Amino acid sequence: MLNPSVLALGKKRSTIREIFEYGNRRAAQVGRENIFDFSIGNPNVPPPQAVQDALLDILHAQQPTAVHGYTSAQGAPANRKAIADNLNARFGTHYSADQLYLTVGAAASVSICFKALTATPEDEFIVFAPYFPEYLVFIEHGAGAKCVVVPPQISDFQIDFAALEARFSPHTKGVVINSPNNPCGVVYSVETLSRLAQMLTQKSEEYGHPIYLISDEPYREIVYDGQPVPFAAQTYPHTLVCYSYSKSLSLPGERIGYVLVPDVAEFSDLYAAVCGAGRVLGYVNAPSLFQQVAARCAGCTADLSIYAENRRLLYDGLTSMGYACVKPDGAFYLFPRTLEPNDYAFCERAKKYDLLLVPGTDFGAPGHMRISYCVQTETIQRALPLFQKLAEEYR
Ligand code: PLP
Repeated sequence: MLNPSVLALGKKRSTIREIFEYGNRRAAQVGRENIFDFSIGNPNVPPPQAVQDALLDILHAQQPTAVHGYTSAQGAPANRKAIADNLNARFGTHYSADQLYLTVGAAASVSICFKALTATPEDEFIVFAPYFPEYLVFIEHGAGAKCVVVPPQISDFQIDFAALEARFSPHTKGVVINSPNNPCGVVYSVETLSRLAQMLTQKSEEYGHPIYLISDEPYREIVYDGQPVPFAAQTYPHTLVCYSYSKSLSLPGERIGYVLVPDVAEFSDLYAAVCGAGRVLGYVNAPSLFQQVAARCAGCTADLSIYAENRRLLYDGLTSMGYACVKPDGAFYLFPRTLEPNDYAFCERAKKYDLLLVPGTDFGAPGHMRISYCVQTETIQRALPLFQKLAEEYR
């Protein structure tokens, strides 16, 4: 007999992947240019030139066996040091290479944290809707813990602190935040993070064990109108930072990121548990070539200006047609309300115009749709009249 829960997961692709595959099939029928695929968060801007320069230099200058060989499980010390130095230069922190554990992207970073922190099946992690759907998979199937959801505050998608407070229990092991957020683009302010830190400190004291903040930050650099993104680890000491270069450097297929382990009293056990979780999950080490690329390009980003233009066009266009939407401050997603309460029915209807949208229910926020705008600007320009036609069907 096979493991029934993973068998079920393998048989049913995520809705996002399902829509993405549907788009590929439709593209084969009517041409890629006639499909408006807003389903997946695959950056459409190329990596910065620095990435290609680093790759060529590494491949020319170093021995292939060294470039492609295994590294230490936590990542080669020189690569970790370069990344720690970059964080320190940007945030005025004092991290050392020994606080970093390099991973195969943010998905691995968060999975490792859930696994490392889970001691019993009663342990709980609190997530805020709308959330990245894979959290449920990583928490419940990967770590064997429980996922507790705070419902969305749909007026602004900020934290509903009363709802959060009601969800703490003696089993709470961690709270997961994702700012800038996928799918709604919200960015938490310093005030929000400070209030969260206060509540976490108070609950940790009440229950007699630290409650960790797991800050999933793959969109940290993707923000608009000069919006500041406070570094969550500076507001609460028990923060595990989960990062990846998938979005900032447009390298999602290369699988490179890290966990930053906080310098707290139980540090050595915490770091060891992170290493142990990476081992259990079979990650061995982050890709050695891209460890070096990340180390050399930690201070760079892809050209993010196209996302700003896409956001402007889409947000202004859709709101002028009557779609209600919280204006995103970061990431590359828009999360408007659907024009009927049943978001699945709405997204199904949108397919008539070859508009591929993801129902908000998958993110724990029914009645919404996620639009990934990491696409060519022209795709948005051509899609807007179709959104208009779709809106007219509801008048
Ligand atoms: N966390 C969030 C919030 C994401 O949106 C994503 C990817 O879209 C991930 C984690 C996984 O990122 P990675 O591709 O680096 O594993």
